[in-house]
This record gives sequence, C-alpha cells and structure tokens, in this order.
Amino acid sequence: MVNPRPPFRRVLLKLSGEALMGDQSYGIDMAVADRVAAEIRDIVDLGVELCIVVGGGNIFRGLAGAAQGMDRANADHIGMLATIMNALALNNALGHAGVDSRVMSAIPMPTVCESYIRPRALRHLSKGRVLIFAAGTGNPYFTTDTAAALRAAEMGCTALFKGTSVDGVYAADPKKQPDAERYDSLTYQDVLARDLRVMDSAAVTLARDNDISVIVFSIRTPGSLGAVMRGQGRCTVIGTAGVAGNRE
Ligand code: UDP
Repeated sequence: MVNPRPPFRRVLLKLSGEALMGDQSYGIDMAVADRVAAEIRDIVDLGVELCIVVGGGNIFRGLAGAAQGMDRANADHIGMLATIMNALALNNALGHAGVDSRVMSAIPMPTVCESYIRPRALRHLSKGRVLIFAAGTGNPYFTTDTAAALRAAEMGCTALFKGTSVDGVYAADPKKQPDAERYDSLTYQDVLARDLRVMDSAAVTLARDNDISVIVFSIRTPGSLGAVMRGQGRCTVIGTAGVAGNRE
C-alpha cells in the first residue's frame, strides 16, 4: 500500500535530550538513537524536508548548574555543548540508517561540524539533506525549544513537531496526576494564558508570530513520528483557532 502523502513539505522536529536517553537516567542510549533515526528515514522517504533541533537535558541543563552556584551564562554554555554531543550521536545514527544529514552548530566548532549559516542550511535542505541544528540559539538564557521555533521560522517550516515522553499536552503532569485532562487542540493563547508547561513562553510567542503550528506527540511510542507527520497520530495541535480546531 502506498503511504498517504504527508500534509507538510518542510518541518522542524524538536527532540529533547531525554528523547535520546531511553530508560537510562543520563546520557545517550544509542539503541534509542538508532530507532529514532530509522523513523526519521521513513519520513524523509515520504518526501518531507526535515530539520531537527536537539536538546541537551539528558547531559546538562544550565538552570541545574546555576542552582548549584554556577554562573548562569557559564552553565548555559555547558548545556549548549551538551546539545552538540547529542547532535553528533544522532548524526551518527542517521548515517547508519542511510540518511544524508549534516550537523550545524550555533557555536562555531569548525573541526567538528559546520557552523550555522542560514543560506547554507537552506541549500542543504533543498538538496534533501536532513539538518541537525546544535548549540541552541548560541546564546545563554534561552532553551532549545526557543531555538526550535527560531530555526523553524528561519527555514520556512510550517510546523514544529515536539517529541516528548507523553502523547500531547495535559492540564497537569499526567505522570503525577493520571486523571489530568488531555487536549487535542489548543491555541497559542490557551498555552500562554493557562501557563501550560509545554514550551517556554518565548518559544510559543515565536511560533505564534510566525504562524508555525506546534504538534506535541510521544517520541517514545514507536511509529508515532511517522503517524503524526501523516496527520494521523495521537497528538495535541497548537495553532491559530482554525488550524488547531481542524486537525483532530
Ligand atoms: N541552552 C542555552 N541556549 C540555547 C539553548 C540551550 O543556553 O539557546 C542551554 C541551557 O542551559 C539548557 C541546555 O542548553 O538547559 C540544554 O537545552 P534544553 O534544556 O533546552 O534541552 P532539552 O530540555 O530539550 O533536552
């Protein structure tokens, strides 16, 4: 059977560091990276142009360092370096899966990977290469969710897929409150006004101002990435009222 055509031409996938951690409490589980890479290959084979922003929370978070007395900007630099490690690991897994991919870092590290230069990134995408954006925005006091919204806007993506450990946005943490309400669709304003902890407010605002739909889904569920990219999987869609309402 021919796969249904995905409704998206160019999208951004945000993978938190925890998405690469699997059931470990720290670091990268290469078996998980290989599974995610195989799922990415399947959606690239559908003709979707894909950019990825990876987080670093499986290794280091600036806020955690600051809480232990570190200078926040220094701690954030360490956090950004953690995202480069994850990007290199994911790039390695994509190579194993036969996907042509490149890492572009917001912090120049020319002996390790390419530096982020927007026209070069656009050229890679037009050649069908998967891009992994590392080092967040390159600036402390930001998160990789904001980097994801920023790169999605710069690359002209119409949708930002945020892979998390749960299958959408809930009114409260479903791991702590199993009866918490789950939403099929939300507007950006709902997320901001109800302070739903799906992404930081800078990321939500950037997505709203650039009309980028945010689709929150579980990256832990095998096959869910392909399903949501085809507009079929279980997820929460955040967008303008019409877009968010029409998807489910
Ligand atoms: N970070 C930063 N600027 C950015 C993006 C990330 O300083 O533009 C740092 C920050 O310390 C953050 C860490 O990198 O805690 C890892 O990113 P994040 O917490 O967003 O990763 P995730 O939660 O997605 O794994």
